[in-house]
Amino acid sequence: MTTKTLQNLFHKTLSKIYSKSEIDTFLYWVVEEVLKLKRIDVYLNPDVEINSKELKTIQNYLHRLQQQEPIQYILGSTEFYGMRFQVNPEVLIPRPETEELVEWIVTELKNQSKKQILDIGTGSGCIAIALKKELPECEISALDISKTALQIASENAKQNQLTINFEAQDIFKLNSLPKEVEIIVSNPPYVRVLEKKQMHENVLKFEPHQALFVKNDDALVFYKKIIELALASSRCKTVYFEINQYLSDDLKKMIQSYNISNAEFRKDFRGNERMLKLLID
Ligand code: GLN
Repeated sequence: MTTKTLQNLFHKTLSKIYSKSEIDTFLYWVVEEVLKLKRIDVYLNPDVEINSKELKTIQNYLHRLQQQEPIQYILGSTEFYGMRFQVNPEVLIPRPETEELVEWIVTELKNQSKKQILDIGTGSGCIAIALKKELPECEISALDISKTALQIASENAKQNQLTINFEAQDIFKLNSLPKEVEIIVSNPPYVRVLEKKQMHENVLKFEPHQALFVKNDDALVFYKKIIELALASSRCKTVYFEINQYLSDDLKKMIQSYNISNAEFRKDFRGNERMLKLLID
């Protein structure tokens, strides 16, 4: 088997499930990881021989891809904001939309004095860790209800040589914010069960439902709790959220009900309403 025949095998095996460009991306990731080749080598050096040990690994990966397991879980890591993050099914795979939320915060805080930031529902730690890298002066803490997620988040901070104060916490049991917190950022669970129909199998079958879904009867429950914590705090005046594109009208109504007048929504690169910043006075 050569890199060229491998390419054919990937397309033949996966074409019923994934698009051409998705399959190419999987191939490149696998080629980089297993054969230690650059993606361009698939074209420039199509005759590179794959030995039997490598082939066995790749066949196993291909089988898992056929079961729709996300490539990031198969390889055990992904990239976010130019950094490497370990991932497994205990944590959501960091999304490019979330990089845009980080970008927004970094742009706004870059030239400000040091701030105390709290990330609620940190998962893999991607938001907290990327913020610490870009804003080294800031102190970042991060909460998650899942202890297993926090183990991965801590590992990711360590690997990227950054210090974050991680804590296992159910925010619904929290009566007040740690008093030093000035800014909250959160990408909470926001997918309604009714949206399951539109979701891809690779998300539904493999990613942690606890990190994705909220009950249909109160899809804004995390937002409300976080806003109430911020309203009760004397220092925390700024909240950045990732949001469900289908819930921006509901969020607007909710914001009005709290008498918050300063709210800014932003779209992601797909043109979907995805981010929200609130200034709370
Ligand atoms: N954006 C994620 C998805 O569509 C959901 C993230 C979340 O629930 N916070 O799968």
